[in-house]
This record gives sequence, structure tokens and C-alpha cells, in this order.
Amino acid sequence: MQKKWIDLHIHTTASDSLLIPSEAVEIAKKCGLSAISITDHDTIGGFLEAQEKADELGIELIPGVELSVAYKGEDFHFLGYLIDHENPEFLKKINSFREERSVRGEKMVEKLNELGIDLRKDTVKAIAGNGSVGRPHLADALVKEEFVHTYDEAFARYLGYHAPAYVPKKYLTPKEAIELIHLVRGVAVFAHPGTSRSPHAVYDFLEMGLDGIEAYHSQHDGKMTTHYVNLAKKLGLIYTGGSDCHGRRKGKVLIGTVKVPYRCLEMLKKVKEENY
Ligand code: AMP
Ligand code: FE
Ligand code: FE
Ligand code: ZN
Repeated sequence: MQKKWIDLHIHTTASDSLLIPSEAVEIAKKCGLSAISITDHDTIGGFLEAQEKADELGIELIPGVELSVAYKGEDFHFLGYLIDHENPEFLKKINSFREERSVRGEKMVEKLNELGIDLRKDTVKAIAGNGSVGRPHLADALVKEEFVHTYDEAFARYLGYHAPAYVPKKYLTPKEAIELIHLVRGVAVFAHPGTSRSPHAVYDFLEMGLDGIEAYHSQHDGKMTTHYVNLAKKLGLIYTGGSDCHGRRKGKVLIGTVKVPYRCLEMLKKVKEENY
């Protein structure tokens, strides 16, 4: 039997990617993927929009979300898969995170203004459209208005964690994020641990009820992927993966560039079945 591949980490214009949901599905189909998950920051709007195209093209679409978490002075991301995405309590919560993102975006513009950068809130709003406002939108705005030459320069000079216009989000604790995902009968996965300065926090997350680790990721090299697959197995967790594609911002669409076996989705489904 031919091996099936998937991509369980894709962003759309519903958050901070440049790809509209239907386009993301089309690209995944062209890459020959069997299943994908749309995992936008704090919203399931992209997943809902992608459904029609996924049905039309016969690609399996998994509901997902990416939540931001603060723990011991650092910021981590958690992916929630196979969530009951119609749960009103869940929708209310993630909507409030989206609203906080808007306010935070405005605060970052104010900080930029204080630094003498005459960026307007409307410019950022126009770029973000209906999407959950994120730093990538501010970076795009800074490039568009020629305050910086490149997207990366925007982060290096202004928007990065230790840069002067950075404003932290009002984060959930890891326990709250895991509980929120479990409330909607989802599977909680530690996103891209290899990009974190404290990947060993996984041991603490495990105690809080974590279900899995994202082992395959565009910023994990082969060695790191193997490490996280083995770590997951050792800890009795499942492992997943995806490209974390944000569109063509960096010139290349990442969908399909990270080889994730279909088996990861089977493991997700098994956890869901066993837990709920
Ligand atoms: P936010 O959720 O608004 O804090 O934005 C986080 C997003 O910004 C991440 O998902 C990345 O896509 C992007 N990002 C964060 N740091 C950098 C960086 N140093 N260079 C480029 N992109 C970054
Ligand atoms: Fe993002
Ligand atoms: Fe992330
Ligand atoms: Zn992501």
C-alpha cells in the first residue's frame, strides 16, 4: 500500500497566515496529502471555511486550534486536535483571546509610535482583516510602510521577544490550556518544542495531562524529530507533526514540506477514543 502523508499544523488568513483556507486545502491536495489540520491561533474560523473545499477535493480535514501559554517566564504553544468546535464555552473563551489580541496589536502600534515610527492602527487592521491579530501582521505593516526592509528585520528591531515594541499576550497557564482542550474532548499537543528555550518543560506538562508532542515541524531537523519521537514514546505520549505554514511570507509555502506519516493521525484518533 502506498504510504499516506499528512500536515497537522497549517495557519490561514483567519489568524496570521497569508493563505485563504480554500487555498491551503488546494495546495495540500496538490502535494498529495491525505489529511490536514487547520490550526489557527485562537480561532476555528479557518477550519470552518476550509470544510467545503476539503469535501470537494476529498481531503480529510481535522479541527484544530493553537493556543499560547505562559510558563515560568516563557511562552509556549499548545495544539488542540479533534476538538468539539461548536462548544459555546470554548468559542466564548477563544473569542476573548482574539479580542485581547486586537487590543495588544494596538498597544504595540502605540509603542512603535513612541519610538518615532509613524505606523497607523488602521494600516495593521487592514492587513489583519478578519484574522486574529498577531505580530506577523505588524511586521507586514512595517515592511509595507517601508519602516523596515524585511519581515525578519521587523522582528529583530521591533517585534521580537526582547525588542522594544513587543507586548506580551495575556496568556493561559499550561494547565488551563490543556483543560480547555480537554473540555472540548480534544487532544492536547505541545507545539514545536524544539523552538523553545526550555523544551524540558514537557515533563511538567506531562503531569498536567498533556497527550502528545509535535515531533515533526519545519523548524525541527531530522535529529530533533527523532529525539521527540523517542521522547514521546518514552513518556507514553503520542507524537504529531506539521509544517506550521504561514503562507508565502518567507517566499515559500511550507505545506507538504514536512513528511508526517498518517499514523500520527491514527494515534490522535485513538487517544480521543480512549479518553472520551
Ligand atoms: P504572536 O502570536 O502575535 O506573538 O506572533 C507569533 C508569530 O510570529 C509566530 O507564530 C511566528 O510566525 C512569528 N514570529 C515570532 N517571532 C518571530 C521572529 N523572530 N521572526 C519571524 N517571525 C516570528
Ligand atoms: Fe502564527
Ligand atoms: Fe506556534
Ligand atoms: Zn503555528
